[in-house]
Amino acid sequence: MKFSNTYVGLGERFYDKSQPTAVRSPKLLLWNTRLANQLNIPQELQQDAESLAQYFSGNQLLAGAEPIATAYAGHQFGSFNPQLGDGRAHLLGELLDDDGKRWDLQLKGSGVSAYSRAGDGRCAIGPAVREFIMSESMKALGVPTTECLAVVTTGETVYRQQASPGAVVTRVASSHIRVGSFQFFASKGDVESLTALRDYAIARHFPEIKQQAANHSVALVDKVIEKQIQLVVAWMRVGFIHGVMNTDNTAISGDTIDYGPCAMMGAYDPQTVYSSIDRNGRYAFGNQPNIVNWNMARFAESLLVLHPEDKEVLAQMQGLITDFPERFQQAYSRMMADKLGLQNLQQGDDALIALFLARMAELKLDYTKTFDSLTKSLTDTKVQATIAADLGPCYQQWQQRVATQTTSAQELQAAMRKSNPVVIPRNHHVEAVLAACEESGEATTALDFLAVLRHPYEETEQSAHYQSDDSGFDQGYQTFCGT
Ligand code: AMP
Ligand code: MG
Repeated sequence: MKFSNTYVGLGERFYDKSQPTAVRSPKLLLWNTRLANQLNIPQELQQDAESLAQYFSGNQLLAGAEPIATAYAGHQFGSFNPQLGDGRAHLLGELLDDDGKRWDLQLKGSGVSAYSRAGDGRCAIGPAVREFIMSESMKALGVPTTECLAVVTTGETVYRQQASPGAVVTRVASSHIRVGSFQFFASKGDVESLTALRDYAIARHFPEIKQQAANHSVALVDKVIEKQIQLVVAWMRVGFIHGVMNTDNTAISGDTIDYGPCAMMGAYDPQTVYSSIDRNGRYAFGNQPNIVNWNMARFAESLLVLHPEDKEVLAQMQGLITDFPERFQQAYSRMMADKLGLQNLQQGDDALIALFLARMAELKLDYTKTFDSLTKSLTDTKVQATIAADLGPCYQQWQQRVATQTTSAQELQAAMRKSNPVVIPRNHHVEAVLAACEESGEATTALDFLAVLRHPYEETEQSAHYQSDDSGFDQGYQTFCGT
């Protein structure tokens, strides 16, 4: 295990050199063996839960780690805050995996930094376990995401809505560079740091740009837009609502980051919002494409600080933002076509997709179950009868449309299954598991849940329990920022 610290190399304006604050009695709650092996964490250390608890609480530092809290700004619910930054997180450094890919290792809940404002620098057990479960689930669903290596309980109490046990979660990310990282320097007019950040981001995430003659700022915005489109389309495939798509929670890698007030949509309704602070539905399920478009406009704006009075760059950036809705729509239609088993998008397919969504919204059908049943209906007459009744004329139209393709029912089913999960982390199950972990201080229920979530496209005896929807629960469900 060998750390490098390239972000530290960017210079002092990028971070606060802050050390984790030790906790009273660290205990390892969750460990991600798959990820640990990918990062080549020595087996000997992996077998030693006590040492893991020391290292992944921040009580002891791994050799070569240089903890920093990174600086960033951000638009939160549309209002700009020029000074945010890691108020309760410490980036320990970067590890290379066997493919030469660079991964950030970050402790979250590890104490205050210069950016903590009034916060206590800590994290409660519930949000820490939520981040672990949700990111593992998203990874298995095939949605780009940051990952969690460990959750360690601290033996201390944190005070939020109520008193809760504290925890530190270790996040692994392809980087922690956010749109807000660019905004931080852009708002100060710090051209030197902004250029350094742009070039660093290109080298780390999009090295192919270096060889391009095109303007590097424009090329970067173009790449990040592509990543963000893929990301939000993937969210919408599985019914994920991020809940707090502020620009500081938008990673330029295109990975899901900051599992705060996130939730899964049960009954299909584009206006679904669960977050207690999102009173206007800014981050509602169906508004996520608009918001990511808006966030990309803020990203382009911040890079434009490097090109004052360059009309060509301005026009190119404006073009990227103007073209966004069309580009998003194409990716979204392709994704929905995959869910419906349509191989090539043809005329009339968009209308069929719209009809499906309208029917689901009208009858408040469960999003995951509807597509699961549709997939099963190809080979199961009982399921077919039920789903045909639910979907009404939509179902016949869909049958006629897929009958024009030459694939067999089995092949079509296998293809559709890739886009339509059997199991998602449903809100009532997530909450029950978090409550059990909090109460017992043990991970048993989380481990049972994770075992199923790691195979979301398989129906097993264990999965049946977690497939139950609970629209009653979802109706009154409220999520809170994990702060
Ligand atoms: P979030 O809503 O988690 O994306 O956080 C927004 C900002 O608040 C970031 O700058 C966080 O580092 C900071 N923050 C959140 N919770 C805490 C906390 N408990 N202590 C200090 N800073 C925090
Ligand atoms: Mg955040």
